[in-house]
Amino acid sequence: MKYVSTRGGDAVTLDEALAAGIAKDGGLFVPAPLPEFTLGDFEDATSIHEVAEVLLNPFFEGSELAPHLEEIISETLSFPIPLTELSVAIGDLHMLELFHGPTAAFKDIGASFLAACLSRLHLDRSIPLTILVATSGDTNNVLSLAVQGSFDDCQALVKEAMADPDLNTRHRFSSANSINIGRLLPQCTYYAHASLARYRESGQKPSFIVPTGNLGNGLALLLCKKMGLPVADVILATNENRVIGDYLESGEWLPAESKATLASAMDVGNPSNMERVLALFVDAGSLHRLVRAVSVSDQHIEEEIREGNADFGFAICPHTATACHVYRHLSDEERRMKDWIVVATAHPAKFEQIVEPLTGQVLVLPDPLRAILDRPVHAVRINPDLASFQMALEEGFGLDAGSSAGDK
Ligand SMILES: *Cc1c(COP(=O)(O)O)cnc(C)c1O
Repeated sequence: MKYVSTRGGDAVTLDEALAAGIAKDGGLFVPAPLPEFTLGDFEDATSIHEVAEVLLNPFFEGSELAPHLEEIISETLSFPIPLTELSVAIGDLHMLELFHGPTAAFKDIGASFLAACLSRLHLDRSIPLTILVATSGDTNNVLSLAVQGSFDDCQALVKEAMADPDLNTRHRFSSANSINIGRLLPQCTYYAHASLARYRESGQKPSFIVPTGNLGNGLALLLCKKMGLPVADVILATNENRVIGDYLESGEWLPAESKATLASAMDVGNPSNMERVLALFVDAGSLHRLVRAVSVSDQHIEEEIREGNADFGFAICPHTATACHVYRHLSDEERRMKDWIVVATAHPAKFEQIVEPLTGQVLVLPDPLRAILDRPVHAVRINPDLASFQMALEEGFGLDAGSSAGDK
């Protein structure tokens, strides 16, 4: 299997794509050609580990990691990913719960997989690998650079650093954002497993609603559909950052400034993975037939957290609420005729300040997350430009006693 840049540069191996994170020409790696599966390929695969092995095998062809795939999968999928059946007033649906990992959000799956891969690669260790991650800040428990700007500023800075010739003579960068193909591949496994499980049970291909920001999780689902897994409709639920929906409507890709919303991990005005989507799905025309996008306002997020809590009997996070809201407002017929899976991306207790006042109930943090949040926060504020980043990086983050800001 080869990985090619969305901007047309040279093809590389999986190992090179994982270690580099981003292509030299600034593009993102996509697998070429994308494998195709039939249902028969999964005949003997029932558990998520078995499905993951069948699915990921072709992507590891020619990789030095291929003999370790089984181990990498069990390290990654080490916590439950339940597909919970919900029978509520507005219909019968399933919720794919992706938040039972150590930081209580779905990114645990991609991040664990990437770490399991990188730790097994025989890299040239003469220059240590520095991994850059742009984050909206809700997941930081380690030393972080608090970029004084939006998530888009932060993401642009990471890409600029990775492409900067001067910095790259002294550092070897990789990325743990969903620009790294190692984040994307494992995310296909839970969609493959869930769609196969539903298809086997009901004989109907399930349809999914995915809370979407940078479009990594949504792209993983689209890849599954393209590879032949039994996936019917795909709906991307966004917050008020509606560039994806606007593109599907107008056919024109117009990245925008990101807006702050209650579903803050989805506050993205220029979703990185759109570049992959455009490379893989050619044009808005063919994409339009595959996927819908619905934007959900903060007011509707709040409403859904309240109503969802009453209906489901449990609280949902603001990101998950965008998807639940979309489900609730489908036509009665569409809700009834299709087999819906709503994707839950984070544990509600991660966003207790938003959720608790709406439900009036106290949320309990999962233990692993509690342990992480109890650790002190170390953050160094920097301006959103390359010079500030370089200074922080090369002067040991300026982390002298007392220099850490007390915020995330
Ligand atoms: C990152 C994140 C999303 C958005 O996922 P993308 O892959 O960026 O589209 C949704 N919900 C939560 C809780 C997240 O952390």
